[in-house]
Amino acid sequence: MFGLFNKKKAMQPRKAQSMNDTTKYLLGEEDIPKVWYNIAADLPSPPPPPLHPGTGQPVGPDDLAPLFPMALIMQEVSAEREIEIPEPVREIYKLWRPSPLVRARRWEKALGTPAKIYFKYEGVSPAGSHKPNTSVAQAFYNKQEGINKLSTETGAGQWGSSLAFAGSLFDIQVDVYMVKVSYEQKPYRRALMETYGARCVASPSTETNSGRAILAAHPDSTGSLGIAISEAVEVAATNDDTKYALGSVLNHVLLHQTVIGQEAIKQMEMAGEKPDVVIGCAGGGSNFAGLAFPFIGRKLRGGDDMRVVAVEPASCPTLTKGRYTYDFGDTGHLTPLVKMHTLGNSFVPPPVHAGGLRYHGMAPLVSHAKELGLFDAVAYKQTECFEAAVSFARCEGIVPAPESSHAIKHAMEEALQAKAEGKSRVILFNLSGHGHFDMAAYTEFFSGKMVDKEFDPAEMDRALSELPAVAAE
Ligand SMILES: *Cc1c(COP(=O)(O)O)cnc(C)c1O
Repeated sequence: MFGLFNKKKAMQPRKAQSMNDTTKYLLGEEDIPKVWYNIAADLPSPPPPPLHPGTGQPVGPDDLAPLFPMALIMQEVSAEREIEIPEPVREIYKLWRPSPLVRARRWEKALGTPAKIYFKYEGVSPAGSHKPNTSVAQAFYNKQEGINKLSTETGAGQWGSSLAFAGSLFDIQVDVYMVKVSYEQKPYRRALMETYGARCVASPSTETNSGRAILAAHPDSTGSLGIAISEAVEVAATNDDTKYALGSVLNHVLLHQTVIGQEAIKQMEMAGEKPDVVIGCAGGGSNFAGLAFPFIGRKLRGGDDMRVVAVEPASCPTLTKGRYTYDFGDTGHLTPLVKMHTLGNSFVPPPVHAGGLRYHGMAPLVSHAKELGLFDAVAYKQTECFEAAVSFARCEGIVPAPESSHAIKHAMEEALQAKAEGKSRVILFNLSGHGHFDMAAYTEFFSGKMVDKEFDPAEMDRALSELPAVAAE
């Protein structure tokens, strides 16, 4: 009897699906942006220039020529709002771009929030993150200037595999110095780099003066991005046939990532929504800027307003606890001095699984935008980020990279705040990559053994006290 009753109920006509049920907002290949967006054109003041550590004077294009091809140096100093994307680069972007914008409907329901949560998914690239957006462009410009060898560093291995992928497309030999703790934690990242034909070395290594100096002082060094950068820069600076490539921080890298935000603006329009808050995790600042700068630029030109939030690890709190000052980009003092939020170039962040967020500094353009009040920054501990990532994965299916889990954690906080207020809110965050190579970190999380490594302010003060005199302002 009850069965019959239930059946009758089940046979009631279903409510018709409306357009509002769309989950994925997809663009066509013709919608891949034709230009990169340069926020320098719209900022109320220009960012302070990089300085030569010897003279304290702004560095010129010639100072950078040993490291980068001239086309990238010109992008680094450009004030043009739009820079054309070369057709061969757009052709390669077609392998994974435009990337999808997804509405996280099941996660919204699980959180019981009236907020609408959208994410731009960059994990669809061959390397599994946003980084090929710039690695392909950098390889293209190097090849155009006759360069056949590149050296670089990598943290968690995302950048190393992205440049290895680009190197394979342009027939460029790539040498990757990988932060030792990640080299040991993520052996499959190394295998991926080798699959693309690159050579991967644990850093600090015995191959460079910078590496040998660190090993002499700290034989057990777990490495850091600052140290690995020194090794890769040294190799490029001392070999005429080799140039250097950086996966974040520099203006031209942020520039190349703006394809993310330009696509997202179109896709949010398709969804008929305006984001109230735009969120990205921030290590060197490139995926954050890639999503946020096109939105911030539109606002600066008189368009829609919204909040923007950068999310960093509590163990490496560059934007929230660092000092805004001139510092070296690397530990071995081979780079120019750049004005940025920094914990000090000799600060070695405690090992966390989000290796891509373990950098002592921040992109100068992102730091400058922070000083101009164009966005806020927050920091979270790694276990709470993994909790959020698992909650997300169990609803949306995608296992996020540990770096991206920071953006997810803040999106969740925004959604829960909206719930507490009983008000709707449109949230957009960048899901910068998937975590398929980071499953050991998830295993550690599920074992209950993951700990939150504490940030040591005294160690930061020590590192900051060593900053070069020219940095004193
Ligand atoms: C490298 C990386 C980051 C951090 O770098 P940014 O330059 O701050 O974007 C974040 N997410 C993923 C997936 C990465 O690979």
